[in-house]
Amino acid sequence: MRAFFEDDSVLAFFTNRHGGVSKAPYESLNVSDSVEDKPADIIKNRQIIADNNNFLLENMVYMEQIHSANIKIVTNSFVSKIRDCDGIITDKIKIPLMTMAADCAPVLVYDKSKKIIAALHSGRVGTFKGVISAAIYKMRINFGSLQEDIVVHVGPSIAKCCYEVDESIANFTIKNFGSKYISSKNNKYFLDIKSIIKEQLISFGLLEKNIRISDICTSCDKNYFSYRRDGPTGRFCGIIMLK
Ligand SMILES: [Zn+2]
Repeated sequence: MRAFFEDDSVLAFFTNRHGGVSKAPYESLNVSDSVEDKPADIIKNRQIIADNNNFLLENMVYMEQIHSANIKIVTNSFVSKIRDCDGIITDKIKIPLMTMAADCAPVLVYDKSKKIIAALHSGRVGTFKGVISAAIYKMRINFGSLQEDIVVHVGPSIAKCCYEVDESIANFTIKNFGSKYISSKNNKYFLDIKSIIKEQLISFGLLEKNIRISDICTSCDKNYFSYRRDGPTGRFCGIIMLK
């Protein structure tokens, strides 16, 4: 799936689980080296994605992803895996940034005026900690990005149809974000994390026309990996690169 803002200056897309070489339960296009998949298969899968999208795999940078709001700025591709963060930003060309997910939201961000990009991993914990606003703030402070120039595509993630949470998380959500983000049926609570992400983007000054939230639910749609649905499984990704 191409990001809606892809243009002559930026490559930006999301993968699904198809087209790779990994075996069950990682079949087939798993990109994550944090699951128990075979390292050789992971590298083959990443190479397939690089070849299909015309970038150099050795330049790609990705994250350890620890469910934080830590954001790091990437100035080169000497270190491919950045520790201790869930957001990476760069203004350098030819460095693909990757974020991986299997229910959490992979988020691609592009300042189309100043040509700054970011890849973020925003699950429930990261979203509650404010990983997206932390990234946009860092783009503003470090690169002078203006909110009205920033476009965001939030990729496939688990939706309110499937995202059951316990009562304490439901109460926390209601208290901190509002009751509209929790629905209940049969004494179960369901979280609408996609709408919280959208609300955060709007409240941080982004324009609604510059925001796209995929309505695909990874738990419903078997074209995607879903940790909630499958337990041990692979990860798909979002990748963004300045050309
Ligand atoms: Zn669903």
